[in-house]
Amino acid sequence: MPGSAAFIQFENVSKAFGTAKVVDALDLHVGQGEFVSLLGPSGSGKTTLLMMLAGFEAPTGGAIHVDGKRVERLPPYKRDMGVVFQNYALFPHMTVAENIAFPLKMRGVGKAEREARVTRALDLVQLGHLQDRKPAQLSGGQQQRIALSRSIVYEPKVVLMDEPLSALDKQLREHMQLEIRELHRKLGLTVIFVTHDQGEALTMSDRVAVLNRGKIEQLDTPSGLYDRPRTRFVAEFIGETN
Ligand code: ADP
Repeated sequence: MPGSAAFIQFENVSKAFGTAKVVDALDLHVGQGEFVSLLGPSGSGKTTLLMMLAGFEAPTGGAIHVDGKRVERLPPYKRDMGVVFQNYALFPHMTVAENIAFPLKMRGVGKAEREARVTRALDLVQLGHLQDRKPAQLSGGQQQRIALSRSIVYEPKVVLMDEPLSALDKQLREHMQLEIRELHRKLGLTVIFVTHDQGEALTMSDRVAVLNRGKIEQLDTPSGLYDRPRTRFVAEFIGETN
């Protein structure tokens, strides 16, 4: 493995759709247990970066290592990562408990073990009492907690989140920000969190990668970005308030 022993490493990674290069020779190193946000305006390449890490898109160049293993040719289910999207993506015909058990079933975990793990994962988001409901019978915040619970049920080391809170109202969003931080701490997760919301990235993250046109302009702690923005783009983008 080249260089440091970072848990997640992007080395010179590019992604083009046709002639459009949306991720451009990008390097990114994330330590185990770190909470790192990918922050940038719409179209800067955040989701594409996350999709390459999750295995839903293949890079057109470069290498991605996770825990010392080269992953960019591995299918998503072999990457040991939980994923949470903005639109929850729960199965409407399944109950909450069945939704959460689904990733375990896919991995061949037996029934008794599944039930124990589902109970634990639901307790972590404090929604055990809703396990027999269908997603349509839940509020947006509850659905997003179920999606969170499903992403951690098989105890992945890494959880990837793509704008998971942007559909929620401000008060609930702020509450869920704290809950996600708490889960991260409690479970020792490595989290990569995509957002276009400066405040959200700066309050939640150990470090923030500011993206612009498929490149990282600066990767730094929140206070580093505030106090020492390295480019005009970073200064202006961090300075904007929502
Ligand atoms: P962000 O998450 O920062 O908004 P994206 O990674 O979604 O940015 O998109 C970056 C650029 O790549 C955008 O210009 C988008 O239109 C383009 N793009 C993303 N996915 C595809 C695709 N499957 N085919 C063609 N272009 C795409």
